[in-house]
Amino acid sequence: MRVYGLNTADLARTPAFREILCAPADAPVDEQSFMALRAEMETIVDVWLASACDDLRQVLRHITQASRDSDVDSLELASTWFECERCQEELFYPNVFAHKCLRSVSPGPLSIRPVHPCGIYDFAVRATFPQAFDEPGRKLTVRSPRIARRVIRFCDQNPDIATAADMDALDIRLVQDDTTIMTWRAAVSSSSCSRSAAVLKLGASSDSRMVFL
Ligand SMILES: [Zn+2]
Repeated sequence: MRVYGLNTADLARTPAFREILCAPADAPVDEQSFMALRAEMETIVDVWLASACDDLRQVLRHITQASRDSDVDSLELASTWFECERCQEELFYPNVFAHKCLRSVSPGPLSIRPVHPCGIYDFAVRATFPQAFDEPGRKLTVRSPRIARRVIRFCDQNPDIATAADMDALDIRLVQDDTTIMTWRAAVSSSSCSRSAAVLKLGASSDSRMVFL
């Protein structure tokens, strides 16, 4: 759960907690009502994660370079990455869920607009717990997969199907300009920030291919 940054704000907006907190005024609600949810917590987290992933996929819906024929989840692809509009940090899934800026933004006018039959509840929860993972489309920019796809190809992987987990498993080190050793993620971030073309080599001395990003 730590990788997702799951917090009280997220839990308060799940259907299970919402049902208790939106119970009719004459329905008994006490500590035991919440303690009873402990046995369901795994399911509650799964429901939250599925919803949060759907929100992120909506942010990606205009990106067409991800393979539509692939069975790989677009979020899992190594070429999928985001930029925080607040601090410009590059973010990959799933760590994007826990990014500090997405967890500390004050609710804006759109955030407090009632969108659920329990509109007052949404209003209260968002005002009390603005650090929920919410409306990522307003806080994240999808970065072009172009550079990531080059790095992935350079590592002999198919960018249409290679997942970030696949790339991590390679444990490849890349060398930039014969000075800086970095992971594939750092290479993607570094090359996207650099105005000059980067030269990368596979770390193994037996393979000294180069690529201009
Ligand atoms: Zn940020």
